[in-house]
Amino acid sequence: MDSEWINIGYLISASLFIFGLKNLGHPRTAPKGNQYGMMGMAVAVITTIAKMQLGEGIQWVLIVAGIVIGSLIGYIMAVKVEMTGMPEMVAIFNGFGGAASALVALSETWKWIDYGAPDEGLGRTVAVVAAGLSALVGWMTLTGSLLAMYKLKGGIEIFGKWIRTPTWGPGWLNPVKALLMISVFALIFLSVESPTDKNYIAAIIGISCLLGVILVLPIGGADMPVVVSLLNSLSGIAAAFTGFIIGNSVLIVAGSLVGASGLILTMIMCKAMNRQLFDVLFKSFGGSDKQELTRTKVGSDADEVAMMADSAQKIIIVPGYGMAVSQCQHQVKEFADLMTEKFDTEVKYAIHPVAGRMPGHMNVLLAEANVPYEQLIEMDEINPEFPECDMAIVIGANDTCNPAARTGEGPLAGMPIIDADQARTVVIIKRSLSVGYAGVDNDLFYEDKTMMLFGDGKAMMTELNNAIKDL
Ligand code: NDP
Repeated sequence: MDSEWINIGYLISASLFIFGLKNLGHPRTAPKGNQYGMMGMAVAVITTIAKMQLGEGIQWVLIVAGIVIGSLIGYIMAVKVEMTGMPEMVAIFNGFGGAASALVALSETWKWIDYGAPDEGLGRTVAVVAAGLSALVGWMTLTGSLLAMYKLKGGIEIFGKWIRTPTWGPGWLNPVKALLMISVFALIFLSVESPTDKNYIAAIIGISCLLGVILVLPIGGADMPVVVSLLNSLSGIAAAFTGFIIGNSVLIVAGSLVGASGLILTMIMCKAMNRQLFDVLFKSFGGSDKQELTRTKVGSDADEVAMMADSAQKIIIVPGYGMAVSQCQHQVKEFADLMTEKFDTEVKYAIHPVAGRMPGHMNVLLAEANVPYEQLIEMDEINPEFPECDMAIVIGANDTCNPAARTGEGPLAGMPIIDADQARTVVIIKRSLSVGYAGVDNDLFYEDKTMMLFGDGKAMMTELNNAIKDL
């Protein structure tokens, strides 16, 4: 195919990625954004295959097999994943992205071993440095993402405590991180002279994998959203480096888009958590051991809550991770509809930027239940409304409305929260008094104005809806 057509194909593809990203900025247009992204990727793949000018034979078999196997894995994972498993899936896909870029870089380096490295000079320096950086970022993203996935799952039994929260390390771990990073840069520098030295290649890969683990290991608790979005950004940066090695402009554009948007999301997450990125990465206040619970609270029942709700003029629903676990978004919507139709109650939803386990988690769930977007109000906008609100109903949220965040101590210190405690009455639906993701006990549960409705979110919302219907 003529190079003009290749460039036009890549231009169309890059434009579709940009339109896709623009549309992903709002829940209403996000599905369209996804479709643009898919079309962009399809155009990029077709253009790249056309550019390769393959003859008949094994290359086609490999490409078709890759497309079929990759599509099957993606399809099965997407169909089987539960809404609660989405964050882990996003984490593992970030890791796959990093690994794919690192593997392409490795195969290029391998070509140098078989067919000779680029001639000395600027061309070689650029190629070797790009390959080294792609390996560093790609392998680091893979191991870091795998660890993040396990942390999001709550840790594997045997290493549970270590993997979930930082119980050791940062004091002496930071110099180790710095040392490892300097070693990789030194190895990349040395490999400019001998790009085909397998020892250098192996050492860069090994140290990069280790770096991914020790960068993510000490981060825990409420800081995990920052890590997930940062890994997303790194997977894009690795792709952009790989684009330089193989001279593929659309990979550079797509990688840079993912890298930049991931970095913007990371900064948004940091702002939401009131954290500095440096502090998240190099100080360990993101996690701690789970607090022991020493207090008790008598639970309420659905009839009692329904009677209180009957006289409420304004109710704000505060959804959290437990709503995703119990999948009760439809019952929540039914509750809001019942209250509006039966009692003309004003119902709104308070959305904390890190509620759930991935950015936009609550928006996605509530959109699935057809809750109008106008009713989903961001934290900063809804907080001033709580003092005028008759009832806040907290459904499976904990850290995001834990007043402990307003104190200067603990894993939640400084994180802005939903001011549910300012409402006249607070109803909290969860199965027990147990702590949230950051492991911090919540004073709000024990306040006099708080009614605890103990049970699974879906079961409790169904009981509450039945009680409202019976009024
Ligand atoms: P939390 O994780 O703080 O708390 C969730 C609560 O849901 C738990 O206390 C649990 O209590 C309850 N719950 C669990 N299952 C059910 C169920 N079936 N029915 C009813 N309740 C249930 O949730 P938040 O959304 O308030 O906070 C999110 C936390 O996750 C923050 O710390 C955030 O930093 C972190 N995080 C967020 C990410 C993001 O991108 N959004 C990514 C990674 C971490 P009980 O067991 O008693 O039912």
